[in-house]
Amino acid sequence: MAIEGKDTQMTYRSVLESTLAHALSYIENLDEVPVSATAGLAGLRQRLDRPLADEGMDATQVIDELVDDVHGGILGSSGGRFFGWVVGGSVPAALAADWLTSTWDQPAALFASGPATAVIEEVCGRWLKELLGLPLNTSFALVTGCSMAHVTCLAAARNALLAKYDWNVERKGLTGAPQIRILSNNQRHGSIERSVRLLGIGNENVIDLPVNKQGHLNIKDLQRELQKHAGQPTIVLLQAGDINTGVFEPFEKLIPVAHNYNAWVHIDGAFGLWASASPKYKHLLNGAEQADSWAVDGHKWLNVPYDCGYAFVADSRAHQAAMSHRASYLTHDAVARDQIDWTPEWSHRGRGTATYAALRQLGKKGVAGLIERTCQHAHCLVTRIGALPGAEVIWEPQINQGLVRFLSTRSDATDTDHDRRTDGVIANILESGEVFFSGTTWQGKRCMRVSVCNWKTNELDVERAVNAVQRALEKQSIA
Ligand SMILES: *Cc1c(COP(=O)(O)O)cnc(C)c1O
Repeated sequence: MAIEGKDTQMTYRSVLESTLAHALSYIENLDEVPVSATAGLAGLRQRLDRPLADEGMDATQVIDELVDDVHGGILGSSGGRFFGWVVGGSVPAALAADWLTSTWDQPAALFASGPATAVIEEVCGRWLKELLGLPLNTSFALVTGCSMAHVTCLAAARNALLAKYDWNVERKGLTGAPQIRILSNNQRHGSIERSVRLLGIGNENVIDLPVNKQGHLNIKDLQRELQKHAGQPTIVLLQAGDINTGVFEPFEKLIPVAHNYNAWVHIDGAFGLWASASPKYKHLLNGAEQADSWAVDGHKWLNVPYDCGYAFVADSRAHQAAMSHRASYLTHDAVARDQIDWTPEWSHRGRGTATYAALRQLGKKGVAGLIERTCQHAHCLVTRIGALPGAEVIWEPQINQGLVRFLSTRSDATDTDHDRRTDGVIANILESGEVFFSGTTWQGKRCMRVSVCNWKTNELDVERAVNAVQRALEKQSIA
């Protein structure tokens, strides 16, 4: 199908105009439509899974049919009534910038392959370090999400720790190298396991340390374990924002201990590191700036579209040694920042553009406001839901994450009955389509997670959510 010149332009205009209308219709209806899926697996497959045709078709028709076919299978996760997992939406400038990123379609590997994109990322790095309270000479990379930020940071850690043993891991690999240990609290996020697998460190070398009542590592436990492995290359993994409770480790106390034993300290701050941007919450990160690397998401609490995380490494030499690559056909720039020196990827989208736009739209005060508002909503949701008959607060939010549980009314109820009732009430809530929460098992108990990350969530959403939970509780007690 040869389309040239004017026809090509017509195609773009028609399909993009129709896409704008579809996008606005989705966004403007978010408050009215169910927040959970109304289409099931079979229905979605029936509509979407067609034979791949021999002949192509009109672009506008492709998009129109796509929008019809996904109906009921798109969650309201970009709206204000979605409190499942840890999911953010997109502030308008970030969404628009993301559209332009695809439109410009720059391979963001080198300054030469996308000059403005490279400079945008450079500026994002500086702004982010300022907001997150990180040392200004820290190197950084914009990656797909916090998981790849872990991989990037831990690859730098691997380089630096083994260099002390005269072992060049990039050249020699890990066979025959001193064994790296990772010490971390046993509540860590599963993304660590996968990063450790990818890096060849192996999960048997991740040592679980218990958490105390406050939900974080004890200094004594860490010290004992460091002592046990003294003289071995060691990474200490700390959390800024536990996935269930939002708890922060006491960085000011733990990091100096780890450094006494020459350990590398990595912080998983997927969402929690953003607390630094708020004057009210930044004290939770006191001492975090002393770590050696930090992994953070853009696509959760900052509310930029998916495919956006940030890796920061204090030892920029180790970071570059782990990631950089030179090839004769690439055009490296002597003065500008080439992203390929810092990222695990070669070509990737210019993902800095959405971050740049979000930070400009919000400003420092807007980011702080977003953090504080969502924390306040999370607190309100947990305490109000917890006060409903048959509900119980399990974790009152310190930041934007909390836990509640629903209790069986049977007089001889066991924990299993409470677990069953909790899952039953969550299922009822989802069925109502009014609000979205997800479950978890925390300290052996089924709980409902309350996670507020969306910039759009307002008092009315909180009101609707509490009412929906109340109705689900009543329905469940009749059932
Ligand atoms: C979401 C999350 C991750 C993983 O981040 P991705 O962006 O999904 O790769 C890691 N740690 C914590 C605490 C998280 O919440």
